[in-house]
Amino acid sequence: AKHFLARVAEHQQLGAFLCTDEAVALKQAEAADARRAAGEATPLLGVPLAHKDIFVTRDFPSTAASKMLAGYRSPFDATVVEKLAAAGTVTLGKLNCDEFAMGGSNENSAFGPARNPWDTARITGGSSGGSAAAVAAGLVPAATGTDTGGSVRQPAALCNVTGIKPTYGRCSRYGMIAFASSLDQAGPMARTAEDCALLLQAMSGFDPRDATSAERPVDDYVTALRTPREGATAGQPLKGLRIGLPKEFFGEGVAPDVAQAVRAALAEFEKLGATLVDVSLPRTELSIPVYYIIAPAEASSNLSRYDGVRYGHRAREYKDLLDMYCKTRAEGFGPEVKRRIMIGTYVLSHGYYDAYYLQAQKLRRMIADDFQAAFAQCDLVAGPVTPTVARPIGSQTDPVQEYLADIFTLPASLAGLPGMSVPAGFGEGGLPVGLQLIGNYWQEGALLHAAHAFQ
Ligand code: GLN
Repeated sequence: AKHFLARVAEHQQLGAFLCTDEAVALKQAEAADARRAAGEATPLLGVPLAHKDIFVTRDFPSTAASKMLAGYRSPFDATVVEKLAAAGTVTLGKLNCDEFAMGGSNENSAFGPARNPWDTARITGGSSGGSAAAVAAGLVPAATGTDTGGSVRQPAALCNVTGIKPTYGRCSRYGMIAFASSLDQAGPMARTAEDCALLLQAMSGFDPRDATSAERPVDDYVTALRTPREGATAGQPLKGLRIGLPKEFFGEGVAPDVAQAVRAALAEFEKLGATLVDVSLPRTELSIPVYYIIAPAEASSNLSRYDGVRYGHRAREYKDLLDMYCKTRAEGFGPEVKRRIMIGTYVLSHGYYDAYYLQAQKLRRMIADDFQAAFAQCDLVAGPVTPTVARPIGSQTDPVQEYLADIFTLPASLAGLPGMSVPAGFGEGGLPVGLQLIGNYWQEGALLHAAHAFQ
């Protein structure tokens, strides 16, 4: 813990951490030592990590990278935090992210951007950018993230780490500061699929405090990853695995350097025995308008709780209650959060609900059905995570253009499917490229197995 805290202090310019607390970390490390001395030998015992500042924590402030929650302390730990602590991990601090997880670059944090360790003038990707930067720079061996529309997978891809968003409902959302409740999922980020399997194992499971958490036993991901496939040979551990390549993921929208790195990684999968098959996800493009209706709609509802009364920031001067609400929210929320609240309120308003929200919900179902058609032909779907390598910080000022960069991660999010980002190689400027693997529901074990064989 001391070693990693020193690295965090040394690399503050990365903006990966929003806070650390040495006293808390060392106390947890001593507790882990005591468990070890008592004979416990579980794999995560004493492993230092840090949590995206979307998870509430008793021992550290919880801000969602928003001024609205600056200085806020939760009276309880998120279930994911609680479960990882029970597994013996040591929390060093909280990690930077886009405000309320709204964004794909970490530039929307109220506390400044996180910086990509591969080139500190560039974005980490988002919204779990602090998590990706911290793991990539060796400030922690592993971290938690959350993924609503790509926020674990994108920063993992752009910072060359491994990350997995499990099936919706696998991890409890209790204590995860809500953005879009029908999409939000926790996920681990680490250097390897094996480390992700260890973390996901500890993070997953039914929680009666989250009504959408799945009452379904957790698979043994670590064993899954080490168990040979049926029919596998020594040189071909992935023999018989059919990987579907959606033609919509390999079209004009992908930069040539990214496409090349992804193709090269897929050629490695072929050498490992996998077969590549052509599939189609015909509504891929529609996932952008669908997501940018549903996610803001849910966000506008979830963020109504920040009223200056119950949590966090309150304006200093105001005339009456309404004025207090208005000033508090005007001061507390950043521009992207305000934009989402306005879009969400609009698409849910009387007269527009049927035209936007309801249509989006119908298309969401069709996007999920498209995946089921694809999975009739293959075991996993693969493609790029992002259309380009990490761009320079400050280089994108048009929010709609920024939303387009989510095209490859939104489909799995809308369908609730597990998705993973695995380091694939390098593109222009020697910058990292991620390979995305998408599985059918509850196929986290198969994703981790394939990624592990590749790594
Ligand atoms: N980039 C997407 C958004 O801005 C996804 C964010 C996320 O997954 N939290 O909404």
